[in-house]
Amino acid sequence: MSEEVNPFESMQEQIDDAAVHLDIDPGVLERLKNPERVLETTLSVEMDDGAIETFRAYRSQFNGDRGPYKGGIRYHPGVNRDEVKALSGWMVYKCAAVDIPFGGGKGGIALDPSGYSADELERVTRAYTEELRPLIGEDRDIPAPDVNTGQREMNWVKDTYESLENTTEPGVVTGKAVESGGSEGRVEATGRSVAIVSREAFDYRGGDVADATVAVQGYGNAGWVAADLLEDMGATVVAVSDSSGAIHDPDGLDPVAVKDHKRDTGSVAGFEGAGAWTNRDLLTADVDLLVPAALENAIDADIAADVSADIIVEAANGPLTPDADDILEERDVLVVPDILANAGGVTVSYFEWVQNRQRFQWTEQRVNDELERVVTEAFDELVDTFEERELGTFREAMYVVALQRVRRAAEQSGVWP
Ligand code: GLU
Repeated sequence: MSEEVNPFESMQEQIDDAAVHLDIDPGVLERLKNPERVLETTLSVEMDDGAIETFRAYRSQFNGDRGPYKGGIRYHPGVNRDEVKALSGWMVYKCAAVDIPFGGGKGGIALDPSGYSADELERVTRAYTEELRPLIGEDRDIPAPDVNTGQREMNWVKDTYESLENTTEPGVVTGKAVESGGSEGRVEATGRSVAIVSREAFDYRGGDVADATVAVQGYGNAGWVAADLLEDMGATVVAVSDSSGAIHDPDGLDPVAVKDHKRDTGSVAGFEGAGAWTNRDLLTADVDLLVPAALENAIDADIAADVSADIIVEAANGPLTPDADDILEERDVLVVPDILANAGGVTVSYFEWVQNRQRFQWTEQRVNDELERVVTEAFDELVDTFEERELGTFREAMYVVALQRVRRAAEQSGVWP
């Protein structure tokens, strides 16, 4: 993993690569490559033993031309200003790729949640929400889960915001528990879009995902659901990993049993009947489909040269460095970009927000049907653009589609005063 690659620079490079195919005013392009504003703050929080601990926290609002800023909140020791800026930019182009009426934002707190009690994490989350209060709201900026956050944290965000504002406004945050205004199907949504675009990608290449062997790097919410749904489609999941290591079984792993093992022991390592692998073994494994579902920069140029998979579907945000992208293009590995592949999460966040505003709950079937429609339509637009413009990669094609949408909204907004 190449730590030295700055994800913000990678994101800007991806926009530039698409912009060369579009005639964009340089001033407008500059605006579309940089966040509108970034909050950087220090939270002071009382620990269970009475000590005060401080945490660096961020929220980047990248672009709001197409709607309220939208994007998750990450709890991870590696969170920093440039990472949050990059992730917020990817949200802009992700929402535009699937054509939902949101801009992009992202937040994070530099902390490893495994080192804190639930009470401590609740106080951290409430302190963070207090800092966010002037910035967020169902028409302003709508946080959601990301790495190491989920329904519990989103319920705290909602409760803190509603208490401070003396109102009920469930649409201020998405990814809530269903009983607290969340949507059916939201937890599975990211993994579901990964599985849908995997099926479409094999179809595009003249194959069938049902015949595929799969390796999944990262076994959080996106990774495990993708593994489970790919298995439902007939694929064989032969290797999975998390930060503690990788496991493999050529006959296929049972994704649900591995998830239960991780819940009980804290990691996928030691799963009965499976062999142990390194992270690199997993990424270069002899499989048909590789799903990086962990963090940025998981696959650099060095690893890309040894990737055996024919298709990579990016469940994580930014898992390939730009150099890795170039090598994979040369090697004719088809990469389905993050801004489409993992867009199921924010798409169902949009459905959740719509349900909150209407105070009307959809069935899980309706959520999944609408998600299928949104993701397959975006995939078809990607392919049309890729072929019509004779572009080099699917990533370029998806960015061309998304950048055109954001650019039009930015130009129509004009410059004021
Ligand atoms: N954190 C997720 C992402 O990176 C979901 C964001 C959302 O639902 O707003 O797409």
